Amino acid sequence: MSSRFEVTILGSSSATPTSRRFPTAQLLNVSERFFLIDCGEGAQIQLRRYKIRFQRINHIFISHLHGDHYLGLMGLISSMHLLGRKKELVIYSPKGLQEIVDIQLKISATVLNYPVKWVELNPDVPEVIYEDSQLSVTTIILNHRIPCCGFLFREKKKLLSLDKARITEDKVPVEGFFSLKSGLDFKDQSGRIFRSVDYTLPQSQPRSYAFCSDTRFDPKVAEQIAGVKLLYHEATFLHELLDRAEKTAHSTAKEAGIIAKTAEVGKLVIGHFSVRYNDMEPLLAEAKSEFPETDIAEEGKVFQV
Ligand SMILES: [Zn+2]
Ligand SMILES: [Zn+2]
Repeated sequence: MSSRFEVTILGSSSATPTSRRFPTAQLLNVSERFFLIDCGEGAQIQLRRYKIRFQRINHIFISHLHGDHYLGLMGLISSMHLLGRKKELVIYSPKGLQEIVDIQLKISATVLNYPVKWVELNPDVPEVIYEDSQLSVTTIILNHRIPCCGFLFREKKKLLSLDKARITEDKVPVEGFFSLKSGLDFKDQSGRIFRSVDYTLPQSQPRSYAFCSDTRFDPKVAEQIAGVKLLYHEATFLHELLDRAEKTAHSTAKEAGIIAKTAEVGKLVIGHFSVRYNDMEPLLAEAKSEFPETDIAEEGKVFQV
């Protein structure tokens, strides 16, 4: 069984919350490592509701500094402190957030029990901002009213597994194992060639998730996320409100579908819905008319990659 790579929707609303919907926040679980993506108001309540322990989150990615994407952060930082956190917390954000948090800590005379490391995002150029043995995170340059980044989470290619029966049968020398596992052919001292493809088991494609926060329709976004397995793209309005979308630097459901189609993604999830909509079905239908493999973000929904 393969390890987890799943996104839990904590908030699907845009600018303001409703009685049923929270502003943007999502939790990505990659093999039991937890990454919080945006932290709208109430994100910590949602984490509680879906039984996700705060202290397991070590990395928080904030797309931009409109309130519906970060106003829950101060509460979460404070709760982590009150619950006795000691571990470092890394927060990735466009310039300004550290200042906002520091002033609140200063005025309340709070010294956190744990270190916070701030990583300032460059809103102009995609950059690899996180990397470990299994995963990398690259920023996606979005097109909004203020500097705004999306995040592309990509599993690294693992070493291949050897086909032990064939290795034994053909007496492949041990020195060749690493090359074969790395996908390279191996030549022994006598000049005999062992092809990697003959001695390794087929592997599934690396999984990936692209989070495209607030953005106007921009084909350059599609270029940055080509072939991604799961795409979240905002769809604040129906296309009949294209004017409004353009004025506020947001996308319509149809435009989200076009981005998914152009980028040839595996699956699209739309969210960040305007509070004017009570029924999301028309938004879903509109995105599906461009890209059938579309689903809707809803609080508590989990998307497996
Ligand atoms: Zn927003
Ligand atoms: Zn915004």
